[in-house]
Amino acid sequence: MDADLQLKVLAHVKFVAMHYFAFKGSLETIITFVAYSMGSDSPSPDRLDNFLRRAETQRRLENEFETALFMDTAKVWHLVSLVVPMDVAIARRRLNHRPISPGTQCRWCLADSKGFAGQELKPELDIYRQPVPGSFLHPQCMRPWLAMRALCDREN
Ligand SMILES: [Zn+2]
Repeated sequence: MDADLQLKVLAHVKFVAMHYFAFKGSLETIITFVAYSMGSDSPSPDRLDNFLRRAETQRRLENEFETALFMDTAKVWHLVSLVVPMDVAIARRRLNHRPISPGTQCRWCLADSKGFAGQELKPELDIYRQPVPGSFLHPQCMRPWLAMRALCDREN
């Protein structure tokens, strides 16, 4: 896949992530969404599979396209948009939303790690580096979560 096509694929993965916000399922399904979004420009499913499984691709998605793509301990794939809402009302609503299972659910994408929470999620730390009770996140989801919190703090 040349650099141009790679960029196109990454942009479409971001677009799909924003559409679903947080999708959980097989990589095959994610590939179907991306191929559908790209239409006739899409590389074959095999090439997309190979490209999206690479750690380097996943790092680029996170750093340059505000998108997390990862497989969890139970081998389920997650596609999560890391785009921070610009609307403070929306940001505040999300910050105030308490997950149903606060000890095992990611505050940002709301995926429940259940028995793997200790491995998969990190505690949110406040400005004094103290853990915020009942607030845990995937490492990938931590940055947008803290950015969203900073946005609301500025508006207070
Ligand atoms: Zn998450």
